[in-house]
Amino acid sequence: MPKGQHFGRKQTRAYTGEYHRINARIFKPLLTNPLGNYSLDSEYLDNEHSKLKLSENKNGIRYLTFTINHKPHHIALKLDNRSASNKLYITCPYCQGQRQHLYAIKYAYGCRKCIGLHYATQSERPQERLMRRIRKLRKDLWGYDWPDVNNMFERVIYWPKPKWMRWKTFEQRRNKIIELEKTYWALAAQQLKNTFGNYLSNSELPIK
Ligand SMILES: [Zn+2]
Repeated sequence: MPKGQHFGRKQTRAYTGEYHRINARIFKPLLTNPLGNYSLDSEYLDNEHSKLKLSENKNGIRYLTFTINHKPHHIALKLDNRSASNKLYITCPYCQGQRQHLYAIKYAYGCRKCIGLHYATQSERPQERLMRRIRKLRKDLWGYDWPDVNNMFERVIYWPKPKWMRWKTFEQRRNKIIELEKTYWALAAQQLKNTFGNYLSNSELPIK
């Protein structure tokens, strides 16, 4: 299929400005406030993206839980004590990277790398390399203009077969991507453990 051909869906590109961004800074009071339920005061966020529960696990890590689409999304608060500014970071619920910003997308909060707004090719961790490989294979199959081609939250399982391709070939290539996506999310589960210790189980990962 020539590049640029699409499947009749409206084409959109993910620009940073399309998503509402939350800044780690706003959570600084929650490092000392009492644990419990809080709500973000923003006209841009729906109810599920606003309401959060502040908890602390046995390792003393404070984290926020947003319940979005019936699934918990855990975001840890990480204070960088090494810097004089005591910068606060929040962790991406998926890759567990420490970020200054997370973006509200339909059913989640995610960092720009996971959403596909931008990704670095330098000093990649294995998970990031895998993410890049998945995106490459997706582009080979569905084209660069496929709307969600960079979005790791969209699973390829329902994406259509390009017209010219044999079913067998298509299924082989698609299944390869599905397989890699599984590995990717398993790595994400491991990263979750690295962030929280064993006090959150894999079953709490929002996406399996
Ligand atoms: Zn991420």
